[in-house]
Amino acid sequence: MKQNGTLLSTVADTEELIDTIGDEHISTTKETPLRADAFEIDDDLKVELIEKHFKEIMNILGLDLTDDSLRGTSIRVAKMYVKEIFSGLNPQNKPKVSLFENKYRYNQMLVEKNITLYSNCEHHFVPIVGKAHVAYISNGNVIGLSKINRIVQYYAQRPQVQERLTEQIAEELKSILKTEDVAVLIDAEHLCVSSRGIKDVNSATVTAHYSGKFQEESTKNEFLKYLD
Ligand SMILES: [Zn+2]
Repeated sequence: MKQNGTLLSTVADTEELIDTIGDEHISTTKETPLRADAFEIDDDLKVELIEKHFKEIMNILGLDLTDDSLRGTSIRVAKMYVKEIFSGLNPQNKPKVSLFENKYRYNQMLVEKNITLYSNCEHHFVPIVGKAHVAYISNGNVIGLSKINRIVQYYAQRPQVQERLTEQIAEELKSILKTEDVAVLIDAEHLCVSSRGIKDVNSATVTAHYSGKFQEESTKNEFLKYLD
């Protein structure tokens, strides 16, 4: 009996914890929680399976799947998940970035701001829409500007938590550029906050990662000044 009681309360606690994590948008790890066997099935099979399951969701909602307008929805959603909005789960889609020598000896801060960001909240699977601002100070190596956009996009195309997305972009840039002098700031609207739940259409979430020289007040302020 006692064991049963303990078990029940554990289940209730776990459910409460899961609800809290979702509602408060807390992330549990820095890495995207992926299973070891995540890529044992290929993209084509993933599309096929997701289509089947999404069709079932639509079915349960009572939608008439013989209607011309709805007929292709499940396959479109499945392709969109695998090939577009969640394509950043697959390391094979990680952008290949080549380093160039910093020939101009430009040793100041390079800021790329207002990078369009579309992601999806991993707690509700609805969009996160915003801007990413990225800066680094070259230690002798530079990368093509469009590669910064691609790195942002790659990590955004996962079910995400904004804090983790910020960290993942920063860590990737540090490892590619071989420097700690990196800053990432994300300013985004979460549709799970604006279109449902609390329905606050005015709030935005700002997350930032500063490392190396960007931890110094003057460098950080210079970066923030460029964002005005
Ligand atoms: Zn959410």
